[in-house]
Amino acid sequence: MIKDNLTVIENRMREAIRKGNRNADEVHLIAVSKTKPVSLIMEAYEQGIRDFGENKVQELVSKYEEMPKDIRWHMIGHLQTNKVKYIVDKAYLIHSVDSVKLAKEISKEALKHQKTCNILLEVNVASEDSKFGFSCADVCPAIEEIAKLPGISVKGLMTVAPYVDDPEENRAVFLKLKQLSVDITKKNIDNVSMDILSMGMSGDFEVAIEEGANYIRVGTSIFGERNYSINKES
Ligand SMILES: *Cc1c(COP(=O)(O)O)cnc(C)c1O
Repeated sequence: MIKDNLTVIENRMREAIRKGNRNADEVHLIAVSKTKPVSLIMEAYEQGIRDFGENKVQELVSKYEEMPKDIRWHMIGHLQTNKVKYIVDKAYLIHSVDSVKLAKEISKEALKHQKTCNILLEVNVASEDSKFGFSCADVCPAIEEIAKLPGISVKGLMTVAPYVDDPEENRAVFLKLKQLSVDITKKNIDNVSMDILSMGMSGDFEVAIEEGANYIRVGTSIFGERNYSINKES
């Protein structure tokens, strides 16, 4: 089942890469495995997937311990400062940096582990009240401050687009994130690259690829619907 789902996604990705005139090597799939058991995630691993996304610290840590060590774990959910210490040496990339305070904490913990932590800044492009992230206006000043922190390397931007029926409705959101990354690149800030644009999910990743995504985060289309009620009871 996972194998078939991945084949469908790879075909959809290929078509979007063609339509958007993108380079296939620069578009990466992150399998969002939150709430899913290790046994199911291993099916994706056996199909060659090495990038997995989690949105809870505890879950990322326990899966990290249990699963093969060549997996790249992506932290994609809101991160509380007091939990940074648990993942700073386990996350390959933290996509969800949404405050300068959080970046400072990551910097502090990265130094303790004598490593450099790669991060993306999350932008709430559509200004939804329910979402975390910097406003488009706040990203630039925040990056200038974060760029000065030791132990941190800013690699790009991430957004979670609104939930919509028609993915075309999110094209402007993806375009806006791309534009923002171009504007930031022009500023030539030390220690900041805008190589990564993390955008697009199960419902809209084709449009995101056409508009410049190089990491798409896909959960439901690979692993099926998530059942949160089971998790809450346990
Ligand atoms: C859950 C989640 C996804 C995956 O969403 P699907 O619609 O299941 O593909 C992507 N990004 C973030 C930040 C998420 O929390």
